[in-house]
Formats: sequence, C-alpha cells, structure tokens
Amino acid sequence: MSVLREPLLLLSRSDQVKRLVSTMPVSAGIVKSYVPGETTEAVVDATQVLVDDGLKATLDFLGEDTLDVDQADATVAAYVDLLRQLAARGLARHAEVSVKLSAVGQALPDTVAGGGHKIALENARTICRAARNAGTTVTLDMEDHTTTDSTMAILRELRKDFPETGAVLQAYLYRTEADCRALAYEGSRVRLCKGAYNEPDDVAFQSRLDVDRSYVRCLKVLLSGQGYPMIATHDPRMVEIGSSLASRYGRVQGSYEFQMLYGIRPEEQKRLASSGETMRVYVPYGEEWYGYLMRRLAERPQNLSFFVKSLVSKK
Ligand SMILES: Cc1cc2nc3c(=O)[nH]c(=O)nc-3n(C[C@H](O)[C@H](O)[C@H](O)COP(=O)(O)OP(=O)(O)OC[C@H]3O[C@@H](n4cnc5c(N)ncnc54)[C@H](O)[C@@H]3O)c2cc1C
Repeated sequence: MSVLREPLLLLSRSDQVKRLVSTMPVSAGIVKSYVPGETTEAVVDATQVLVDDGLKATLDFLGEDTLDVDQADATVAAYVDLLRQLAARGLARHAEVSVKLSAVGQALPDTVAGGGHKIALENARTICRAARNAGTTVTLDMEDHTTTDSTMAILRELRKDFPETGAVLQAYLYRTEADCRALAYEGSRVRLCKGAYNEPDDVAFQSRLDVDRSYVRCLKVLLSGQGYPMIATHDPRMVEIGSSLASRYGRVQGSYEFQMLYGIRPEEQKRLASSGETMRVYVPYGEEWYGYLMRRLAERPQNLSFFVKSLVSKK
C-alpha cells in the first residue's frame, strides 16, 4: 500500500489540520469533485442529474465521531429533511441514505443518557422510520474496527422492525468472510467494500493482494448466498470478477448491484448502468467533508497535488 496512506489517514482525525483545511470552500476544485454541495437542495439536485443518467444513489450527510448530543440530533433532523425532499421530488425510488452511526451518537460516552450505543440505535431507528415513510431504505456505513461489534448489534436490532436496512462489510478485516456468511440470508442487503480506515495487523490484512483475495472470497459467499449483494468498488478487476461470479451463480441483473463513490470513474458508472446493471452512486454532502476527503486522498495520493493547489489558492 502507498507510504502516504497511513499519515493521510492519521491526518483525517486531526482537529488542527481539520480547522485549517476546512476554511476551504466546498467549491474548491478537489472538494467539489468528491462532494457536490453542502445543502440538502444541492444534493437533491445532484441526485436528479444521476437519476437522469440511469443511476441510483445513496446519500450521506457528512459528519462523524460526534461527541455532542445536539449535533447528533441535528444530523438526524438533516436526514429526515433530506428524505422528505427526496419523496417530494419523486426521487425516493432511486435514492436511499447511508448513515454513519458515529454521526448520530455512537461515540458518546456511557455517562450520557444511556450511552452512545443506545443513542445511536434510537437515532438510527428514527431515520429508518423516515426512510420507510418516504419509500426508501437506510444502509449503515461501517467505520473503524472498534465500532464493528456495536454496529452489527444495532443492525440486528433495526432489522427486527426494518429488515430492509443495509449492512456494510469491509474485506480488509479478518472477521469479514465469517460476517458475510452470517449475513447472506434472504432479503439481507450487504455492501462489500475493501475498507477505508487505518487498521492494525491483529485485525486486518495489510497488503493490497491479501485485501483483494479476501474481497473475492467474500464476493463468492455473498453472490452464492440468498441476500442482495452490493459490490462497492472502483477496482476494474473486482468489478469484472463480481460480474463473472454473478453469472456463475446464476444471478440475474437486479438481484445484486454495483456501487461507486460520487466523482470516481463516472464514465464506468454510466457504462455499467447502460449494460443493464444496477449502479448506485454514494453521494456525500454537507460541511463536514474533511475526514471523507482525507480518506479519498489516502486511497489516491496522486490527487494530493490538486489538493495542495486548492488549499493554496483557496478559490
Ligand atoms: C459505495 C461505497 C461505499 C463505501 N462505504 C464504505 C464504508 O461504509 N466503510 C468503509 O470503510 N469504506 C467504505 N468505502 C470505501 C472503500 O472501503 C474503499 O476505501 C474505496 O472504495 C477504495 O477501494 P476500491 O475498492 O475502490 O479499490 P482501490 O484498489 O483503492 O482502487 C481501485 C482503482 O479505483 C480508482 N480509485 C480508487 N480511489 C480513487 C480516488 N479516491 N480517486 C480517483 N480514483 C480512485 C483507481 O483507478 C484505483 O486504481 C465505500 C466505497 C464505496 C464505493
């Protein structure tokens, strides 16, 4: 993996650098290429453009590691407002939402009103209810490994009332192949990604080759299972292997989907959609784009020079 990956992922959690970088307007070149805007209106407009191109979307109100109950509540309110607007614009059939549990309170200490786990569960439940009323679904993003057990427990609770709730599993974790087996049941929506955090070698594969091998093993489990796999990757090899495994296991188009991030390989997104695949684009929006942007730069340090230029010119 790139030597810059680890320092960039460490910076993604630095408050000092965040304060400096966040003075950049979202319109600055590099930010705009990954985040279409800061407001609900901007993201709904961006969704309309994607839908007109035959794509689906999953929308993420940016923010993570919230240590403030009011901020967690504001995030829930933002999702409820977004879901209302998606329904009002007739987009809810094509767009769902992705939620980071740390943005709705999971990281709050046990001393606060029942503790972070319970607060995040209740907040996620409110968003699931709003999604169902709008006619769409929620997927729970997966964050660093210290949150995996709590997130899986919250998923199990939510699925009792909202079985349509999507899970995310990260191929870089040793545990994930077993988690794929446990979640490959009928109706279970599971997004498989490689994983975006800086994880130690006692829990995660470290080399690109080992992560890719794990991704393929997990794809086999999910695509041969009974659930609805969501193949989230920009890696051309993984997309190809995903397609051929889907036909090997007799899956018809629409019984699984591909997912990519907003602004990454947009032509490939359209190509897959026009070949009949379901292609969903993950669209982040809001003011809290710092951590998200740093993880994208860690995946592709070649973009660092564009980033520094945007920072210096502050256009
Ligand atoms: C829809 C979606 C949802 C996700 N949700 C989560 C989540 O909940 N939790 C989590 O930990 N991670 C999540 N991720 C991120 C994921 O774990 C990876 O970090 C990320 O997708 C990069 O891995 P890759 O599979 O694209 O392969 P890589 O091997 O990283 O990249 C393959 C190729 O894709 C292109 N590419 C990759 N990144 C970039 C970039 N930033 N800019 C331009 N080109 C690029 C390049 O051509 C590269 O060679 C998500 C990813 C997607 C697509």
